[in-house]
Amino acid sequence: MLGNPTAARFETALARLEGTGSAVAFASGMAALSAVLLVRASMGLRHVVAVRPLYGCGDHLLTAGLLGTEVTWVDPAGVTDALRPDTGLVLVESPANRTLAELDLRALAHACGSVPLLADNTFATPVLQRPVEQGARLVLHSATKYLGGHGDVMAGVVACDEEFAGRLRQIRFATGGILHPLAGYLLPRGLSTLPVRVRAASATAADLVRRLAADPRVARVHYPRIGGAMIAFEVHGDPQEVIAAVRLITPAVSLGSVDSLIQHPASISHRVVGETDRRGAGVGDRLLRMSVGLEDVEDLWTDLDGALGAEAGSRAPSGARGTPRPATAHR
Ligand SMILES: *Cc1c(COP(=O)(O)O)cnc(C)c1O
Repeated sequence: MLGNPTAARFETALARLEGTGSAVAFASGMAALSAVLLVRASMGLRHVVAVRPLYGCGDHLLTAGLLGTEVTWVDPAGVTDALRPDTGLVLVESPANRTLAELDLRALAHACGSVPLLADNTFATPVLQRPVEQGARLVLHSATKYLGGHGDVMAGVVACDEEFAGRLRQIRFATGGILHPLAGYLLPRGLSTLPVRVRAASATAADLVRRLAADPRVARVHYPRIGGAMIAFEVHGDPQEVIAAVRLITPAVSLGSVDSLIQHPASISHRVVGETDRRGAGVGDRLLRMSVGLEDVEDLWTDLDGALGAEAGSRAPSGARGTPRPATAHR
């Protein structure tokens, strides 16, 4: 419970990658976020300022106040005005879940003053973005995603200075959200291929984005300027039909694996967020999100092209499309 050399190897590597003095690993990304909130709440700093959209469970955790925190949701421009004497944390995600919206982290860090800015860097990874260089004090990862990279690990990590790390370890020790040693073994293996995986998947994603943007069956494509392997797009037709028609791409949540996944945020990952808040955060009913893996780009496009054809109304007679796979009802 106090320490594990295998897990410590991963923590040291991640701290180096993010450019911080320390890093503390947890059993999951949500355990990592919970520990950060508990550290601040235990210091009497129960107020959190946060920018939407955030990862769905993080949004829910803050909105429901399950850990005794109180949240004020703001636009990036409203951060300074929302700060109070008991504000312990400003929480952002960039590029953000589902819509892939990007924030100016440098301006945000400035707006936070002495309150620590936590940036969720799960989507970009330190290969594409190092938030500490832009003024963030805490960097959070769901290591379940790109850092592990093969869809077979659950883990979370917070990169921070040694003082905050000490407090996080205290919470981790007392609440039990520790990293499993097997995960601690798999994560450095994931890290050793991280740059190669992220660059290859990003190149494929950028190629798919070009094709989708030129396709009349697609209303809108979202892709961050910094690149990455996550793409989001809105279709004119029924997004569920696209999901039911893909063959190579797996209909499932999560992201960051070698396998490409597709999901419908409004009904899966963001169903825990209220409808008005969800739409306000840009997660519309026709939005699809895809995590691009390491398959050949032509195979992926053939799959998407076929699935979009089905959603445009030119679909094959019923029965010809096989049995649609159900979307995984988790996260
Ligand atoms: C998945 C995810 C989380 C939560 O991580 P878990 O490891 O699934 O608990 C937090 N933030 C982002 C951006 C995520 O994608």
